[in-house]
Amino acid sequence: MSRRIAIIGSGFSGLAAASFAAAGGADVTVFEKNDKVGGRARTFSASGYLFDMGPSWYWMPDVFDNFFASFGKKTEEYYQVKKLDPGFRVFFGRGDMLDIPADTTQIFDLFEKEEKGAADKLKRFLAEAETKYHTAFRDFIYKPSASILEFMSLSMLAKAIRLDLFQTFENHAKKFFKSPRLLQLVEFPILFLGGTSRNIPALYSMMNYSAFVQGTWYPMGGFSAITNGMAKLAKELGVEILTGKTVEKINASSQRVNELIINGKPRQFDGLIASADYAHAETLLEENYRNYDDKYWSNRTMSPSSLIFYIGVRKKIVSLQHHNLFFDEDFTVHASEIYDSPSWPSAPLFYVCCPSKTDPGVAPEGHENLFILMPLAAGLQDTQELRERYFDIIMSRLEKITGENIRPSIDYKSSYCINDFANDYNSYKGNAYGLANTLMQTAILKPSLRNKKIRNMYYAGQLTVPGPGVPPALISGQIAAEQLLKTLKI
Ligand SMILES: Cc1cc2nc3c(=O)[nH]c(=O)nc-3n(C[C@H](O)[C@H](O)[C@H](O)COP(=O)(O)OP(=O)(O)OC[C@H]3O[C@@H](n4cnc5c(N)ncnc54)[C@H](O)[C@@H]3O)c2cc1C
Repeated sequence: MSRRIAIIGSGFSGLAAASFAAAGGADVTVFEKNDKVGGRARTFSASGYLFDMGPSWYWMPDVFDNFFASFGKKTEEYYQVKKLDPGFRVFFGRGDMLDIPADTTQIFDLFEKEEKGAADKLKRFLAEAETKYHTAFRDFIYKPSASILEFMSLSMLAKAIRLDLFQTFENHAKKFFKSPRLLQLVEFPILFLGGTSRNIPALYSMMNYSAFVQGTWYPMGGFSAITNGMAKLAKELGVEILTGKTVEKINASSQRVNELIINGKPRQFDGLIASADYAHAETLLEENYRNYDDKYWSNRTMSPSSLIFYIGVRKKIVSLQHHNLFFDEDFTVHASEIYDSPSWPSAPLFYVCCPSKTDPGVAPEGHENLFILMPLAAGLQDTQELRERYFDIIMSRLEKITGENIRPSIDYKSSYCINDFANDYNSYKGNAYGLANTLMQTAILKPSLRNKKIRNMYYAGQLTVPGPGVPPALISGQIAAEQLLKTLKI
């Protein structure tokens, strides 16, 4: 008889785990508390607009292609992607901006214009980043990181040193570039890892390889096109996906999970992957079966939460590209208000996504779809009044820098912040991106993929290995499923 595996959560990690577990021969059911699959990558429709609620940058396209290839499929059988050119625009002030082209040789020219000799330096920087990318994917990222022994061979240690695990990103970048603008450009991708260039290892310059060489892509129809595609594949493999089903309790005895309580009703299983936020999933267990206590979680460095505005505008905004970063304020101040003394920022940096530049399906004709995101420390007080105050601050800056009058043309507006993350995803302190990828929270130092007291339970998702972001979350689902299948000896 095939083994029954339950998966809590239908984000990228849960959906990936479901397909791998089903393809491995298990009888799989996914329980999702919300009424749609996708987790943080859901979309919603309102007033003729289709808004991506969370992720918007599609990097590391090979991870998605490899995922579908694992099942003998092609990405384009499930959704279409488009390469963006320019990949993104960076505003440094009013009328002062740089567009990052899709063609890497043009990026070299752009760097050379900013700083003499920077083109050659960028070539070396990216060649190193490419080596890190391929080495990390081949030797590290798909490992369960269950024990230091996985990394203890001399060749692995040599690779870890070559990967720059023990140097900060800031020191690494400063060896190549002097221009503050170029430093901002190469440092920005690591903001996705929930830290700053001062506490993130230089290993993650591999993100620059993805941003500058592989390029920035967009899944037509938004990110739910991917999660809906993954759900379709999972169903083709025989997975049952149940939405509107909250797992309220995990019952274990004799070091085995045997029962879940879902919307008040018990259901029996032979194995479990909890892909909901790790800290929450632990609270579903009796205390003696948890990997970590409250003190452990309160001592972690969380990635930021976010204040997000979803805005519809009944006119075109010519000065925006698809992705727009606003670096007109000093990020060190904002970063210290996230990590050192958590508070609402005094001069926030923000990001604006305008997918209607690429996808006519996300806004009525002649309109623009805006997603505005401001990073914010997790766990802060979140009120409607604070959200409105920051809406005014951000919109004033956006209008000033772009030189466009936007507010009078807004015909849809809603916001999303700390309280929503906590309510919708059971997110610890309302975090958006899980744990920061600092050196002390990397690989075996991350919350363990395996429940150390229950043999048939694993965790997946952005709070465990390999880390935050869509590609790592997807990979963590694969690793968790493979480990559980081994444990159940399917
Ligand atoms: C605003 C924002 C912007 C981002 N931008 C990017 C980006 O541009 N590019 C990128 O690569 N990454 C980005 N990320 C990160 C990326 O979205 C996440 O790392 C990834 O989606 C996390 O997937 P997951 O499966 O770990 O978790 P989730 O997507 O949170 O999935 C967990 C699921 O578990 C469900 N759940 C929770 N509790 C229960 C329960 N008790 N019972 C049943 N179900 C439960 C939740 O409802 C949720 O659906 C962004 C994230 C946010 C929030």
